[in-house]
Amino acid sequence: MIRKKIIAGNWKMNLTYAEAMALADAVAGTVQGEQKTDVILAPSYIYLHDVVNLIQNNPAVSVASQNCADKNPGAYTGEVSSSMLASIGVDYVIIGHSERRNYFHEENNLLAEKVKRAIEHKLLPIYCCGETQSERNASKQMEIVKEQIETGLFHLNNVEIRECVLAYEPVWAIGTGVNASPEQAQEMHQFIRDLIRKKYGEETADNISILYGGSVTPKNAHELFSCTDVDGGLVGGASLKAEEFLKIVEAMEKIFLSNKEE
Ligand code: PEP
Repeated sequence: MIRKKIIAGNWKMNLTYAEAMALADAVAGTVQGEQKTDVILAPSYIYLHDVVNLIQNNPAVSVASQNCADKNPGAYTGEVSSSMLASIGVDYVIIGHSERRNYFHEENNLLAEKVKRAIEHKLLPIYCCGETQSERNASKQMEIVKEQIETGLFHLNNVEIRECVLAYEPVWAIGTGVNASPEQAQEMHQFIRDLIRKKYGEETADNISILYGGSVTPKNAHELFSCTDVDGGLVGGASLKAEEFLKIVEAMEKIFLSNKEE
């Protein structure tokens, strides 16, 4: 089975408008339509519309929001709804990033609502999960990830779940320079795929892309993406420099092509 390969760049709360547009331009100008790896750029809300316009003729590049509201439009000052995002041509939305869970106290039940709103408005969720260092130290990583996925996603039906991309991002690896080892990543990705298999069946589990996130760099991309159940990456720091990000995209593309030849 050849699952969709994806490299997503999460720009977080970084970059001025000029820097964001220059980065989007550099990525979209290099990534070609015939490429097999889907590239996703996730700028800040206020740059989304212009980035959507900039990449619109490039089928290999899509745009993600870093967040969305858990509510439908109404009196929720400062919030941005899925319907608004969809109306400007945004394709994906990152839901449940550990920074949202940690700094903004977003819990699994709230994230389940965000996932529902995204699906209702045809935005594709990139649902993040992952344990903290102390949870791993206590050997609770599987339990934590299982709960995050079951509560956040398993309310979806068999058709809706296929609209989702998952991202395993161990919190201890995000922005720390310490990535999960390929063995740790593969173990968790396989566990996640097994959870999906048990709930939704073989075919659905085989079709869902599960990304790894946490200190991905051009140096470690190849070994991480070579893992059987790793279908790409969610990249933070290294996505802010076009050259580094494009090397990570290239690493994924090479693996995709060599797997196809086998
Ligand atoms: C992220 O924020 O999703 C992330 C993985 O960050 P970094 O690549 O910087 O660890």
